[in-house]
Amino acid sequence: MLHPDNVYQEAKRKEDENYKFRTYLKMHADEMELDRQFQRLHRELFADYDCSQCRNCCKQYYGIIPEEDIEKDAAHLGISTEQFIDFFLKKERVGLDYHTKHKPCDFLLEDGSCKLGDCKPDDCKNYPYTEQPEQLWSLLSVLEAVEVCPVAFEIYERLKEEYRFRGKR
Ligand code: SF4
Ligand code: SF4
Repeated sequence: MLHPDNVYQEAKRKEDENYKFRTYLKMHADEMELDRQFQRLHRELFADYDCSQCRNCCKQYYGIIPEEDIEKDAAHLGISTEQFIDFFLKKERVGLDYHTKHKPCDFLLEDGSCKLGDCKPDDCKNYPYTEQPEQLWSLLSVLEAVEVCPVAFEIYERLKEEYRFRGKR
């Protein structure tokens, strides 16, 4: 597995190959089989990985806090919803979700844990979304994750091996 600090640079080095593999999957992969492959690799690789030693996702993105989470998040921190919004959040436009004021995310703690604990947003819990269905239609989002997440990077590399992709270019 790559060191988290090296993921972006390695992904950029492989950018062309990664886009070609996306095209290859679009043309040749079976949708259901591809989901099963992603899910198997996701479970296998995350089982042994300590995300607290990485946290690239929390460092490179703002935390996105859905409106419906605000009450429980504020209660988790022992403050009012008004204080929660005032201290931590901003919103670009009406209708959009709130996001944290800063990047790295304001809720990231030094030990790599999240200040919101189990109240962290579902999007954070599910990142890099490689266990979700319909991967064939989400490969651009996978390619984004490959630039951030060492596990997503490794999943994509293992898929290339499983499809013997290098021999087909
Ligand atoms: S989900 Fe990926 S980017 Fe986020 S902490 Fe875990 S390994 Fe790192
Ligand atoms: S809310 Fe927590 S898990 Fe989500 S980006 Fe911020 S620190 Fe990371």
